[in-house]
Amino acid sequence: MYDVIICGSGPAGMSAALFLRRANLNILIVEKGTPGGKLISTALIENYPGYIENTGIDLAMIMYRQVKHFKIPYAFSEVMKIEKLGDEHFVVHTKEGDYESKMVIWAAGTIAKQIEAEGEEEYVGRGISYCAICDGSFHEKQNVVVIGGGNSAIEEALYLAKICKKVTIITRGHHFRADPVLMEKVMRANNVDLVTHHVITKFTGKDLLEQVTAKDRDSDNEIVLNVRGAFIYVGFTPSSTLLENFDILDEDKYIIVDRNCETKVTGLYAAGDCIQKNIRQIATAVADGITCASAIVRKI
Ligand SMILES: Cc1cc2nc3c(=O)[nH]c(=O)nc-3n(C[C@H](O)[C@H](O)[C@H](O)COP(=O)(O)OP(=O)(O)OC[C@H]3O[C@@H](n4cnc5c(N)ncnc54)[C@H](O)[C@@H]3O)c2cc1C
Repeated sequence: MYDVIICGSGPAGMSAALFLRRANLNILIVEKGTPGGKLISTALIENYPGYIENTGIDLAMIMYRQVKHFKIPYAFSEVMKIEKLGDEHFVVHTKEGDYESKMVIWAAGTIAKQIEAEGEEEYVGRGISYCAICDGSFHEKQNVVVIGGGNSAIEEALYLAKICKKVTIITRGHHFRADPVLMEKVMRANNVDLVTHHVITKFTGKDLLEQVTAKDRDSDNEIVLNVRGAFIYVGFTPSSTLLENFDILDEDKYIIVDRNCETKVTGLYAAGDCIQKNIRQIATAVADGITCASAIVRKI
């Protein structure tokens, strides 16, 4: 039986793993995708201390190398169910098999929200993407739209502006919510247009995306953009459905934890973007991972 199983290998999961391993605990990370979590799909990071204007993939690989340096074992599989059988006894069911542990850290992050406009599902992978760094290069010298008004939307638009002919950023708000430093950069880019107060109504085309239609929220006046790519950054929902039976989720499905990042289910911890908190960033995910790992080390 493992001391701790960590579900998810983003910044929160990897930070927890490093602390637990260095305390000589017997741990396992279960990851359904690529270690790094959302870092893998982040074009530019410039607000994580010690890391100046670099890509998310680079930071993910630095963290992963550190985890491998401490010989932390991985099970590359998707967690399908978590059961608590008794005191200090959990079973983590994955697609490839079951693992037992005394404690569990859930660090599974969040999933990108869809905008639910007509044609969105139809054109995912055929022009619509939720990851500029993954799919931006398909749109070299083409026109694209970025949908969203926060930091993620602006960061990814800046990345796309280097590759694409023209980038139009559309937000439903009256203003963009991104940090001023990012807005200054985007204003300086000569191939970026900003559109506020519009909602996307439909995505159209033949086999591939060809047009995005947006309408003014007050007047209903429509604009139609001829684009080959649409990148959507309108927020996230927590990856927490598997924990619903423990009755530890708030109304938005974020996991409720105490100051040690432990849920009300003894031995079940949660860390990173999936927990109820105000700021969802790499630094706060790392902090949560360390917080629960330290609490576990004190307890075991
Ligand atoms: C486009 C974009 C740009 C961003 N830019 C910045 C930035 O500049 N600075 C900054 O500080 N933050 C930025 N962020 C936010 C930052 O990436 C997140 O706050 C951080 O990655 C959260 O880490 P996490 O470990 O909680 O979750 P994640 O990074 O989401 O990792 C969760 C991991 O859990 C795995 N997982 C999920 N479900 C399961 C399952 N059932 N079984 C097994 N594994 C599972 C996933 O595959 C994933 O690897 C950005 C985010 C996005 C989307």
